[in-house]
Amino acid sequence: MAVEDFKNLIEVQSLEKIIKSHLDIIEGERNRLVHLEGQRQIRQDQNSELTDKISQANSRLSELENGLADKEKNLARSQSHVENAKTEQEVVALEKEISSLTPEIDQFQNSILEYMEEVEANNSVVDQNLEFINGLNETLLEIQAEVDQKVSEEDQQVAILKERIENLFGQTDSNFIDCYNSINKKFLYNSPLAFARDKKCSVCQFTITEVLEKSLENGQQLELCPGCSRLLTPMTASNL
Ligand SMILES: [Zn+2]
Repeated sequence: MAVEDFKNLIEVQSLEKIIKSHLDIIEGERNRLVHLEGQRQIRQDQNSELTDKISQANSRLSELENGLADKEKNLARSQSHVENAKTEQEVVALEKEISSLTPEIDQFQNSILEYMEEVEANNSVVDQNLEFINGLNETLLEIQAEVDQKVSEEDQQVAILKERIENLFGQTDSNFIDCYNSINKKFLYNSPLAFARDKKCSVCQFTITEVLEKSLENGQQLELCPGCSRLLTPMTASNL
């Protein structure tokens, strides 16, 4: 009987709404993990960027250290030559060389110091990030267990509700089920059913003609709302 079929579909729709609330809880639980994993990813990305910078700075450092060693060698050589210089002219030339080498050496030393400080600062951030990531990994394990537990409980509820829907479908005319399922492709969890109330669609307020209303109340044919394409349900079926 058509009214019974409509009553079953109304119950299916309300069971689906409950399913949706469980699915929302599941999504919320999973989002807790997604958020934390995102935090972890940010630190991991930062560390891989910093590791590249550190390695570049280290290779620049060894170039500078080689450069410094050369300059220091030249300085030592010039200084020892000054002691053994035979002419005043030679001394002047060597002292000129020494006085130009000294600021160059200072410059090398300053650059080396700057790079060392940069490497040290970056290493410290990398270490902080690793500590954060390790802590986060532990938290994630704990939360993962909580989420798994909660999701499994919710899944069980959903399974029970789906079974109830299957039972209702078992007692419903297959034309009704086919129509409902086809409308549900568009309106799942968004009221696939609409009531014809006061000559209007209860969802989109489209005006229902008298002819349509009559046909609906006779319950001989399935009618869709001309406005929103939901399955129109006679008010007589609404009193469960
Ligand atoms: Zn409508």
